[in-house]
Amino acid sequence: MPTTPFLTGVAADIGHLSDQDKALMHAAGIRGLRTGRLHFDQEKFLSGEPQPERFHAIKARMAGLRAEGFRFTALTPSPFEIVGKAGVPGSAEYFENYRRMCAFLAAEFDGLADFWQVANEVDIWIFRATLTLDQSVAFLKAGIQGIKSTGTKAKVGINITLFPSLPGEVDGNTEAHEGVYIAKGVYHDPELELDFAGFDSYPGTWRKGGAESWDAYLDEFYALTKKPIIIQEFGYSSAGGMMTAEEDAGGIYPCKAGKWRFSSGGRGHTPEAQARFIEESFATFARKPFVIGATYYRWTDQTVCWQCKQPGCPVETAWGLLDLNHQPKPSYESYKASMQKHFCRRVP
Ligand SMILES: [Zn+2]
Repeated sequence: MPTTPFLTGVAADIGHLSDQDKALMHAAGIRGLRTGRLHFDQEKFLSGEPQPERFHAIKARMAGLRAEGFRFTALTPSPFEIVGKAGVPGSAEYFENYRRMCAFLAAEFDGLADFWQVANEVDIWIFRATLTLDQSVAFLKAGIQGIKSTGTKAKVGINITLFPSLPGEVDGNTEAHEGVYIAKGVYHDPELELDFAGFDSYPGTWRKGGAESWDAYLDEFYALTKKPIIIQEFGYSSAGGMMTAEEDAGGIYPCKAGKWRFSSGGRGHTPEAQARFIEESFATFARKPFVIGATYYRWTDQTVCWQCKQPGCPVETAWGLLDLNHQPKPSYESYKASMQKHFCRRVP
């Protein structure tokens, strides 16, 4: 059966994948797993001490999953996670320590991680913490250079989410045009070696528009970065009502309302609308030869909303391809059908 280099993945908790989960992933052509939980102990590294047992345990788990056909995108720490021992944020010492940490991780996970994503969405202020935009660019460059210095064959990139820039419309997006600013700082530096451009977006759930938005988003992001694009996160919630015009105008947060501001195609947030979003998204990805992979957020539904900590809040509990009992939702079937239609992806 023909295969394409397109990497299809899901965000999943790799520490808790059952045999049934893995069988369902294989059947749907899912072989990419993305993980930021490497259990890397920065304090120990910076003190010259060995890493803890759980760091080695995750490497062993990844090796086992690789033998079963899975491939990994691993994340390096983001600015908000960097320990005080690394130095004053934005100082030369701080960037040098970050470069060394990323080089260490690349060497330790060589042959286990096929892709490295340096930090996560530093265009969002929560993730870049106290760093300025220029310091965030320097941070990313230090991480990229650290990984590349090891000579690893793993592909290296960063991810951006505030694109296209819509100041005031998307949380954290101001007139500073954070996403575009950081993307230009990294991708327009001729000295920097980068293999792909990561892009995260949630049209129809967190952004106005729907699956039809991908067409222009991807063309414009490719024009900006000139790199093969991997969609590091996309997804759609299958639960939650729609806000009334008054609720929308009042700016209420979705967790507070238990409702959404946006939906794809005006179809609301239902299991069927989620399935349709996935089908339409993959149809667009497949038409773009410069899109080389996509990671769906996320594998299963969740019991508690990670944002407001409330069980059953529709905001962060219904993005899964599987329900809470690990049974396939219409979204799973849609994902699987899209793989067969566009990518002929089968994992041996
Ligand atoms: Zn919530």
